[in-house]
Amino acid sequence: MIVEMRRGATQEQVDAVVERARSYGCEVQLNIGTDKVVAAILGSDTGSLSTDMFAVLPGVQSVTRVMVPYKLASHEFKPGPTVVHIGGAAIGGPHLVVMAGPCSIESHEQLLSTARHVRRVGATVLRGGAFKPRTSPFSFQGMGLEAVRLLDVVRQETGLPVVSEITSPSLLDAMVEHVDALQIGTRNMQNYALLSAVGQSGKPCILKRGLAATVTEWLQAADYLLATGNDQVILCERGIRTFETSTRFTLDIASVGVVKRASHLPVIVDPSHAAGHYALVPTLARAAVAAGADGLLIEVHPDPVNALSDGLQSLTFSDFERLMGEIGALAAVMQRPLAPVAVEEGPAGD
Ligand code: PEP
Ligand code: MN
Repeated sequence: MIVEMRRGATQEQVDAVVERARSYGCEVQLNIGTDKVVAAILGSDTGSLSTDMFAVLPGVQSVTRVMVPYKLASHEFKPGPTVVHIGGAAIGGPHLVVMAGPCSIESHEQLLSTARHVRRVGATVLRGGAFKPRTSPFSFQGMGLEAVRLLDVVRQETGLPVVSEITSPSLLDAMVEHVDALQIGTRNMQNYALLSAVGQSGKPCILKRGLAATVTEWLQAADYLLATGNDQVILCERGIRTFETSTRFTLDIASVGVVKRASHLPVIVDPSHAAGHYALVPTLARAAVAAGADGLLIEVHPDPVNALSDGLQSLTFSDFERLMGEIGALAAVMQRPLAPVAVEEGPAGD
């Protein structure tokens, strides 16, 4: 941390900065210039000190962090990439992983037919919503625990590992035994009690970016999960709120590259919630693969016209199949081929 004193700061004011730093076990290097003093505060754990504790002292002009404010998610903490395992799928490894499924689970037949189709055309993880965090309390809220149970049934029927969103720590016990990974949605990215509880569960987790969160805040949220000792964390870019209204959210495609430079965690892209319209999903999905994302999370529904949530952005089976063809070709060009669908797993027929 660098503390810049004001021009004309007194010796007592400089001494107060030095004393405060030492009281927290830090070393101080003073750089005494012709008209101002700059103090470098050094220590292995300056990340846990707030900049405010120096900024409030008299005579201080500014305080700047040298280290990034996220610690465990950073490359500085772990130089190599982290690979996250959801059942047999490895995210962050040599293959591009596609996760797909309905926004909301609506019935056994709907989930099973979707699972069989997405598996047949190359998806290796099934994602289905059981608890839906809807903007309005009057919108369909999901089938809840009954849907979680259906995920378990369909996993056994198809062999696909399953992911579903958790909206409260109180649901953990009921969900962990039925799903292979938990999703934390955009509206809960800064629900710190939920992050810590999911981290402690030991389950792999997909952490969506908050719709108004900076990449730094997103990585700090990931630190809450990682701080529990659970390193099975996947970041998911799903679009942010901007002034643009022609898409539901603005897909920040650059964040894929920003995260790759800053963090060892895998990053996937959800083109569905960013696009908000089925016709735009392929454009964003292709961009994500070209940008170097480790995977995709795509909403697919057997009958989008009658879907109980997010029908407009859901792909039909045939649209998803066509997109998978395009993604497969692009992934090969990117030398990141699609993850193979395990042959020994459950029945594939549809
Ligand atoms: C979802 O995945 O269906 C969902 C609600 O996503 P988000 O949290 O990104 O809005
Ligand atoms: Mn949705």
